[in-house]
Amino acid sequence: MKDCVFCKIVAGEIPCHKVWESEEFIVIEDANPKVDGHLLVISKRHFDNFLDLPSELYEKFLISAKEIIKKLGLKDFNLVLNNGKLAGQVVPHFHLHILPRRVGDGFEFGV
Ligand code: AMP
Repeated sequence: MKDCVFCKIVAGEIPCHKVWESEEFIVIEDANPKVDGHLLVISKRHFDNFLDLPSELYEKFLISAKEIIKKLGLKDFNLVLNNGKLAGQVVPHFHLHILPRRVGDGFEFGV
C-alpha cells in the first residue's frame, strides 16, 4: 500500500534488519526498541490490523512468531499486538511485537 512504512520495508524500499522470513511474514528488529532484541512480526501483504488478517493466515502468523522465538531460544518474552489508535497502534499494517524479557530491563507491562 502506498505510503505504508511496512509495505516499503517488505518491498525493500526502506532498509531493515531482517531476522526471519517466510512466504507470508517477515520478522525485523524494531527501529525504536523498547527492550534489547525487540522484534516485529509483519505480514508481507498489507492488512490494516488484526481483524483484517484473513483467517487462513492466523495459524501461519502464530507459527512464524513461534519459529523465531524458538530459533533465538527465548524463554521469557511478551507478545504485544496494538490494535487501533487508542490501543497504541501507530503503523496501520498488521504486526506483532516480540519483547524478550531480562532481569532489570525496566520494561513494565500490565494487563
Ligand atoms: P505500533 O505502535 O504497534 O504500531 O508499533 C509500530 C512499531 O514500528 C514501533 O515500535 C516502531 O518503533 C516500529 N517502526 C516504525 N518504523 C520502523 C522502521 N522503519 N523499521 C523498524 N521498525 C519501525
